Order: sequence, then structure tokens, then C-alpha cells
Amino acid sequence: MAKAEDLLIALDDGHGIDTSGKRTPVVTEIGRAIKENEFNSKVVKYMDEHLKYIGFKTLLVAPTDADTSLNARTNLANSKGADAYISIHFDAMGSVWGNAEGHSIFVLPGATTSKKLAECVAGFLQQGTSQKWRGIKEQNFHVLRETKMPAILSENGFMDSPREARLMLDINFQKEVAREHAQGICKYFGVTYKEKKEGGNNVANEEYEKNAKPSPSLETEYNAAVKAGITDGTYPKRPATREEVAVMILRGIKK
Ligand SMILES: [Zn+2]
Repeated sequence: MAKAEDLLIALDDGHGIDTSGKRTPVVTEIGRAIKENEFNSKVVKYMDEHLKYIGFKTLLVAPTDADTSLNARTNLANSKGADAYISIHFDAMGSVWGNAEGHSIFVLPGATTSKKLAECVAGFLQQGTSQKWRGIKEQNFHVLRETKMPAILSENGFMDSPREARLMLDINFQKEVAREHAQGICKYFGVTYKEKKEGGNNVANEEYEKNAKPSPSLETEYNAAVKAGITDGTYPKRPATREEVAVMILRGIKK
């Protein structure tokens, strides 16, 4: 049986946070678009933690928010002699809400070891949140072509699908996708998989959490309201009760 500590897994989060395009249409509940990298980078983070927990070594090929070039990503994986290359993405058919949905894994045409890795991961991806399985597809993508090790690129849903776009910020979904990739990587290498125990944090969506960022369109007024003492700046996206709204209005009147 292969030893996890002898294996280096390269993890690729797809795009920079501000890479043009690469985002959902505006999601009304949160008043903004969700960028593809918000999902990709979280899944990579959870995969990194989980794979290390199992014993693997990992290599983050684009650890910053910058738009790291594809060449830099694949050169790093090649120079470090990574044993597998995993690129995490979220698909899109267009820039407005549409009907396309589902998940898939891409490999280089004719790449048999990559296909085997893809099959291992696909088996677990299909066990989680119910999504349309679009299959293992062949495509001549840079990160698949220019890597010397087995390489896969997973598209974990469609940004222009109203249902799947809303999964992108769901921590439980992000962790599930990360776990399923880790399970597939273990299966491919014949490494014993270890379930990672979670702490007490059952929050489903950190958008609604304490230090969430206000929506860009409301940020100026929101910050002014915080400065004026109307609200304390925490949980900007959480719904307020009537009593809280009443207190906030009163604070505003008193200013
Ligand atoms: Zn992408």
C-alpha cells in the first residue's frame, strides 16, 4: 500500500479572485455576484487541510488572491515533482441565469492515468449533494496538457444555475466537495482514507457570519451607519428582528 507521506498533491484554485468574468449573475439574497474563486479557493483550503490530515504532502500552486498564470501553476507542480495535480473550478454556460447544471471532470484526451484518477474522484463526487453527473470529459486545457503527473480539472457545478450558484458559499458543500476529492485521491493511490473530525462549527453559510463583508453596493452607507453608532458592524448580512430595527431607527433619530 502506498504511503501518503511519500506523495505530493498539487492543488490549483482555478483563477484569481478578480479574474474577469468567472462569477455568477447577481444573487438577490446577498446583493452581489459570487466569484468563482470564492468557491475554488475554499475547496482547495479544505482539501489542503484534509489531505495533510491523512498524511499527504500538498503544494498550493496559486496560494495568493492574485491571478497566477497557468504557466506558473504548472511549472511549479512540475519542478516540485508533484504526484497528482487537482484543479478545482465552477462551470458557466453564460453570464445570465440559465438551465445548464451539473458537475464533471476533465482530463487530457488519451491520458490514461489521469482518467483513472478522474474515475476514482468521480465515484465519490456522485455520492454527495444530488447533482446531474455530466461525466468524465476530454479537453486540451493548459493545466492538463502541461503537467507531467496525472492531472484532473473538476467543474463542480454551474455558476449560472440558480440552484448551484447558491451552493458555492455553502460551507457544508465546500467541505463535501473537498472530502470527495480527498477520498478519490486516496483510492487512486491506494492510501487508507481518514475521515476528518469537525469542530463545533455548524454554520452553513459564512456570508451571514460575524465578520462578513457588507455588499459592495451598500458598503458606503453601511459603514457610515456603523460610524454613526446605529449598528456595531457585526453580522452585516443577518436578518434583524423588529425590536432591533426599532432600536436602530431610534439611534438614528437621536443623532
Ligand atoms: Zn474556472
